[in-house]
Amino acid sequence: MNNKRQGTLFVISGASGTGKGTIINSLLENHKNDLFLSVSATTRSPRKGETNGVHYFFKTEDEFKELIENDGLLEWACFCGNYYGTPKKTVDGMLGRGIDVILEIEIQGAMKIKAKDIGAKFIFILPPSFEELRKRLVERRTETEDVVEKRLQTAKEELQYAVEYDYVIVNDEVDKAVEQIEFIINAEKCRVHKNLNLISEVQKS
Ligand code: 5GP
Repeated sequence: MNNKRQGTLFVISGASGTGKGTIINSLLENHKNDLFLSVSATTRSPRKGETNGVHYFFKTEDEFKELIENDGLLEWACFCGNYYGTPKKTVDGMLGRGIDVILEIEIQGAMKIKAKDIGAKFIFILPPSFEELRKRLVERRTETEDVVEKRLQTAKEELQYAVEYDYVIVNDEVDKAVEQIEFIINAEKCRVHKNLNLISEVQKS
């Protein structure tokens, strides 16, 4: 049976240190052929171990502004002094091929996607507590103390937007969080409006 359906766009947000990255890596490992993680453009400097084109497309501010002017971004935002944005073409291409796409983005960008009303689903990842979040950020040692404080403050402000999302997941156990997101992805695949071809094929059979 040939059930051609458009992929779903899953927008995942959560403060730095909530473990979004670990959850998403594990999801991608389990879904090598049917899930794609969009690689964002950013003006932030690469961290140790980050590769251009793999973790981000690292851009100068002028290059980033050119992307905005050429309508190359599905959304973009300024977060803690740096620009971040989602390249439009690749995402559209994947969705058109029926592949589900994950955007791991912050809230302003997520709200821009929500305003576009393009059928995206929004998942908010919570840390077990702010105390735990601070601990994870400090232990990660990728940011200075100032940046850790700034990110914690941003995380507190961002929390008020969690109610704008469709789903909320607490990352107290990675495997459990991954499983919960897989449930969401599978449920979305079964939506009636995504399976109208399937219904008509069965009707014809
Ligand atoms: P980091 O600097 O820690 O890699 O990312 C900082 C924040 O930017 C994270 O919350 C991350 O989800 C968000 N982010 C990464 N890529 C994008 C993007 O393309 N658009 C938006 N709006 N946020 C992004």
